[in-house]
Amino acid sequence: MTMANRTRSFLALLALAVALGGCGPAATPAPTPRPAPTPTSAATAAETDSWLQAELAPGEAVIWYLGHCSYAIRTRSHLLIFDYQESSDGQARKRRPSTPGLDNGWIVPQQIAGQAVRVLVTHSHSDHYSSLIFDWQGKIPDLVYYFGWQAASDPAHHYLVGPRAQLTSDGLEIYTINSHHNDVPEVAYLVKVDGLVIYHNGDYMGEFQSDYPFLREVTPRIDLTFAIRGYEDGTPYLAQNLDLFTRFEHGAVFPTHDTAGGSGYAAFEQVFRAQVPGLAIHVPLRVGERFVYREGKVTREGER
Ligand SMILES: [Zn+2]
Repeated sequence: MTMANRTRSFLALLALAVALGGCGPAATPAPTPRPAPTPTSAATAAETDSWLQAELAPGEAVIWYLGHCSYAIRTRSHLLIFDYQESSDGQARKRRPSTPGLDNGWIVPQQIAGQAVRVLVTHSHSDHYSSLIFDWQGKIPDLVYYFGWQAASDPAHHYLVGPRAQLTSDGLEIYTINSHHNDVPEVAYLVKVDGLVIYHNGDYMGEFQSDYPFLREVTPRIDLTFAIRGYEDGTPYLAQNLDLFTRFEHGAVFPTHDTAGGSGYAAFEQVFRAQVPGLAIHVPLRVGERFVYREGKVTREGER
């Protein structure tokens, strides 16, 4: 064993001890226990920067979970950010980390200033939308906003008020489907970009029996599916998600609208793995967790 390897092993054991040390009996046991990611591979800012610089082929992506419904997705030549806010991750509060960055679920404009950043927002509820996204203007040279409603009147932004808006611009081909809840209009997004098809549900709960066939005309396959965590028997989201998961072929499914590492995401995974055999579900275990999508498969942090 080399000195470097020995040091790495020692750090691994130390990290494991620290991880287990904070572990008490869980109040609500997760339905599907799964091993925590290897503690040695906790993402660092330097590692994040290397993923921001890495050459990606068409159809490849690097994905960060930013809490609740927010994910950042780096594709060959874009960085998409969906439904970003800094207040909540499901029932948990999001807190500003001491060294904020993608690797702990925080957008720092300087970190992503070299990217072609495309910000997409599904609706105006505060768990999906915060006006702080406008603070990135002037700090990220190549920055474009897309809203699923008439969020403002800046002609530089795209307002996909629909119904079923379609837009091709800035290298993105975007389709929306629409619904309303608590008096606000909202969309789900289907985005084709850099050889990938991405679906982000937001809180969309609509006429999926006609909306999904409409999207199915656009694509039979979705590479990255960000689906709301509804799985409980008798809920509309259960039927809607089952339709989504069976009508399309999916590369990788990530849940939204709950808490990293919590029982809600674990139950989502358990229910849909049972109901849709072969569906590749990837549940975030921590805010800031990174996933790599290559050749139609996801590699989690710590996996090779
Ligand atoms: Zn919501």
